[in-house]
Amino acid sequence: MTETRSTCPYCGVGCGVIIESQGDDITGVRGDPDHPANFGRLCTKGSTLHLTASSVVTRQTRLLYPMRREHRGEAPQRASWDSALDFASESFAKIIQEHGPDAVGFYISGQLLTEDYYVFNKLAKGLIGTNNIDSNSRLCMSSAVAGYKQTLGADAPPACYDDVKHAQCLFIVGSNTAYAHPILFRRIEDAKAANPALNIIYCDPRRTDTAEIADLYLPLQPGTDVMLFNGMLHIMLWEGWTDPAWIATHTHDFDALKATVRDCTPDLVAQTCGIKKEDLFAAAKLFATSGATLSLYCQGLNQSSSGTAKNAALINLHLATAQIGKPGAGPFSLTGQPNAMGGREVGGMANLLSAHRDLSNAEHRAEVAALWGVPSVPEKPGKTAVEMFQAVADGEIKALWIACTNPAQSMPDQALVRRALARAELVIVQEAFATTATCAWADLLLPATTWGEKTGTVTNSERCISRVRPAVAAPGETRHDWSIAAAFAQRLERLLPGRSPGALFPYSLTDPALGVESIWNEHRESTRGRDLDITGMSYALLEQAPRQWPLKEGETTGKARLYEDGIFPTLDGRARFVNTVYKPVAEPRESRYPFSLTTGRLRDQWHGMSRTGTLGRLFGHVAEPSVQMNAQDMARRLLKEGELVHVTSKRGSIIVPVQASPEVAVSQAFMAMHWGSEYLSGQSSIGQPLAGVNALTTSAYCPSSKQPELKHAAVKILKA
Ligand code: SF4
Repeated sequence: MTETRSTCPYCGVGCGVIIESQGDDITGVRGDPDHPANFGRLCTKGSTLHLTASSVVTRQTRLLYPMRREHRGEAPQRASWDSALDFASESFAKIIQEHGPDAVGFYISGQLLTEDYYVFNKLAKGLIGTNNIDSNSRLCMSSAVAGYKQTLGADAPPACYDDVKHAQCLFIVGSNTAYAHPILFRRIEDAKAANPALNIIYCDPRRTDTAEIADLYLPLQPGTDVMLFNGMLHIMLWEGWTDPAWIATHTHDFDALKATVRDCTPDLVAQTCGIKKEDLFAAAKLFATSGATLSLYCQGLNQSSSGTAKNAALINLHLATAQIGKPGAGPFSLTGQPNAMGGREVGGMANLLSAHRDLSNAEHRAEVAALWGVPSVPEKPGKTAVEMFQAVADGEIKALWIACTNPAQSMPDQALVRRALARAELVIVQEAFATTATCAWADLLLPATTWGEKTGTVTNSERCISRVRPAVAAPGETRHDWSIAAAFAQRLERLLPGRSPGALFPYSLTDPALGVESIWNEHRESTRGRDLDITGMSYALLEQAPRQWPLKEGETTGKARLYEDGIFPTLDGRARFVNTVYKPVAEPRESRYPFSLTTGRLRDQWHGMSRTGTLGRLFGHVAEPSVQMNAQDMARRLLKEGELVHVTSKRGSIIVPVQASPEVAVSQAFMAMHWGSEYLSGQSSIGQPLAGVNALTTSAYCPSSKQPELKHAAVKILKA
């Protein structure tokens, strides 16, 4: 038996694993006792990884060979890699030459490794000359990115996991941590056991399992977080619980916010948020007056049409009370996916550039162009996720390359996504699994390696970079994601006029270990002098142990906690308050659609279930899809447990069993995000077949982060 140290491919906690393998089969997995994210612990998903990666499962679910579909609707036929890459590069070159570089787009994934992300970003922005590259991280963390940048000056989570044990008050908001980040939740349980005086406040529309550990639960109405945070600040100001001296020394722009929160009276906040005034007061007092307050938050804040304002309003509270830059204190966004952080670091999104540079900054564009050795990188922002599918549906983007993600299930408003995929002239899907809904729309399928087979790096929620290592050989003709992108790029640069073949993508395709390390070295050099400077972080150093960024040349350890010196990465070193004004959800419930539908994770499933859905054991916790409602609402509508209901929004309708849940408040409903077409079918408002809960969700998005409001849709629920 061989043992290989690697990282769990599921959530942003980023637990270390030890993979056991025999020959080409992964036979076991256990937590890595030396990894700083988990110290040997794994949750149900991580501890069953080997059962979802065995060769038996692989034979049934994996895409193992390039496949090409000559005509839509036909079964795809096996193709050689050479013919597949020739077809892809010639088709892209033709479209680019006829319609310009913005006629193509790349939709990639927070589950790619940092090196994969780097090559895709360089391919789009450096070779083709388009910023039309976005990622499913847009559905995950882009509001957190915008919130950090607007307030603290850089996309850098300032806290670390160790802060959980130093905190005196934990403020958990919009995060079912017990299910979505289980091993971090174990730390919270440990901290509470070690320090019973630790106060835990939990804010969420649903009374989830995370609420069980809370001393104070605020069951706020969906989408009212900004009002809650502004109301807490109102009370803090009134009671003298802010820190005027710290504010005067370290921040700007408090006065405009003070004027806004003056109107957020306890009566108004209690009524808007659906909480008691005394609970609002208690939350404000605990947050402001504890020795150290740490906020943990996730998609409840991010997946919102006010996502950036929600993030900024929460960070405003930390700035107003100086609860930042000290052990146990600070705002701490929990990353949904395993490598949404790494994608942000390489700038692999439509509005970002390498190493936290800004696309709108001419100097930054020139720096990236110089690093890559190209004349320029394009200035015009690319299409973000929803905009990209809208542009494909409108015929503006003609070729779409989708890698390591399943938008035909995970994007909101599936009617729009299907219109886009049907209209596209060319859809290329680069995937490890042949079973995803998006594969059915592909003209060309390119088989990729996955966990247990890949090599590279990922960054977790606390800025900690870990190695991902292969335990077994790539099955079939699968290739690493970065090497597929690089092989395509090497062909494309010979077809596009004015490019220098061989110059941009000089990575070894025959020796993947060498190739991937040279990509890493290029990426780390791009960070020199930036807030996330990792010029001291070689693969050799990461061989010893994971490291947090920043870690400059000459250093051997990273920074656990940022801003301890009170200096922020802004021009004058001061943080900025954002004047956050409350706006309701994009689609408030109304008489025809009287329920607020919220969505979220199950404990034992991951995203579209292409991996976790292969294991019967993981259906032991929740066996089938349902819509959960409050028992009072079911009684009023004469609905019985398990009865089939139509759940209908303005965009589509699905049929699903109804289930009474004490977690769900009156006038609200909840559905898990995971169930796809194998489990749940329905149709759009114009009769088009659709699948999953995203037949119902809205593509309305936050104007700053462009992150869609997957967390709320107005629906009606009627007996089927
Ligand atoms: Fe994997 Fe997240 Fe579970 Fe850790 S907590 S084992 S990273 S799914």
